[in-house]
Amino acid sequence: MVRGVAHVTPLYVDKANNAEVWDVEGRRYIDFASGIAVLNTGHCHPKVMAAVRAQMERFTHTCFQVMMYEPYVTLAERLNALAPLQGPNKSVFLTTGAEATENAVKIARVATGRTGVISFTGGFHGRTILASALTGKVTPYKRGFGRPLPDVWHIPFPVPQHDVSVQSSLKQLKYLFAADVDPTQVAAIIIEPVQGEGGFHPAPLELMQALRSICDEHGIVLIADEVQTGFGRTGKLFAMEHYDIEPDIICVAKGLAGGLPLSGVIGRAHLMDAAEPGGLGGTFAGNPLACAAALAVLDVIEEEKLLERAVNIGEQLKQKLELIRKRNDVVSISHIRGPGAMVGFDIVRGHDGSEADAGATKRVVQRAYENGLILLSCGTTANTIRILAPLTIGQDVLDQGLDILEKSLVSE
Ligand code: PMP
Repeated sequence: MVRGVAHVTPLYVDKANNAEVWDVEGRRYIDFASGIAVLNTGHCHPKVMAAVRAQMERFTHTCFQVMMYEPYVTLAERLNALAPLQGPNKSVFLTTGAEATENAVKIARVATGRTGVISFTGGFHGRTILASALTGKVTPYKRGFGRPLPDVWHIPFPVPQHDVSVQSSLKQLKYLFAADVDPTQVAAIIIEPVQGEGGFHPAPLELMQALRSICDEHGIVLIADEVQTGFGRTGKLFAMEHYDIEPDIICVAKGLAGGLPLSGVIGRAHLMDAAEPGGLGGTFAGNPLACAAALAVLDVIEEEKLLERAVNIGEQLKQKLELIRKRNDVVSISHIRGPGAMVGFDIVRGHDGSEADAGATKRVVQRAYENGLILLSCGTTANTIRILAPLTIGQDVLDQGLDILEKSLVSE
């Protein structure tokens, strides 16, 4: 196995159920990682498993470009109707999140006849060459992988604790338009409504509103990368529902198919139809098992009221973290944040708590693992703990997980 694929834990999984995982040595873990924001409906949700099993009995693959099948079409119809975009909408399905962001850019380029793309520092859009060019972090995603792609620019993402305001972010965009690229050459601006890998930073409303009007003024396509925020995590099906503006295109993946590999691009029909036949797709794109799983995921979110549960889980997490923060025997915690159950917080040091403490963050993740809790960190300064518990998690398991989290935050 290659060094380039890093591992958060050394464990090998034997089996998993909802928010619990057992390793090959029989140790049980509570999963607050959800395979990086994928298992919003938990490991092996019975409805999702049944849907996949039923589809598997019929056929597993044809390639949608060779012979079409109904779950792909039904899923497109449902997502076109559910997406917070005033229609008519169209969807295309792929396999990974990186493919979703790449295809969104391809669609924006062919629809506008322009090549420029603007994204944000700290943003994460995948590891393929174009997706990593969009990603706003050099190490480890770009270093050594060749010259930066042309026509991709980054502006700072507003994060108060990094001293970047919405105003300064927008000023940089103005400078970019003045110094480097005419806005009429820009095909798209791509943004995560809440930065995931970059540190669980929600995009402020004024930023989204300003981006919408800049895009309208210059004919630029606004792409929302909802790969990590999607499918109920933030208390809405799509995080863009928290804003009073609409993007033109939305990228989805991760939680969409409850653990099966599936991604998609949903957008306004006139943009989505710009690519000529054969320009989009892929051998495994929109695999029938994954489409069947995604249809079941949408049912489960509705039937089990997972949007309300996301808000409830988020409130519990924040309350507990506020209590932990007040203890004087724990590491320094700041900026508890995030919509719904997409909750993160920073671990800091220094007299005013302004210094990122990546070392302490790593130790907390390690202690959590030793105590039976799978936890993830993130952030450009590697000092954010993010909590991504399945939205289906039972209250008893959630309580146990929070107790382990508390124990893991106690200073050595
Ligand atoms: N966009 C965002 C916002 C993500 O969080 C990720 C994955 N962390 C991706 C794109 C890439 O997804 P994948 O790893 O499935 O290619």
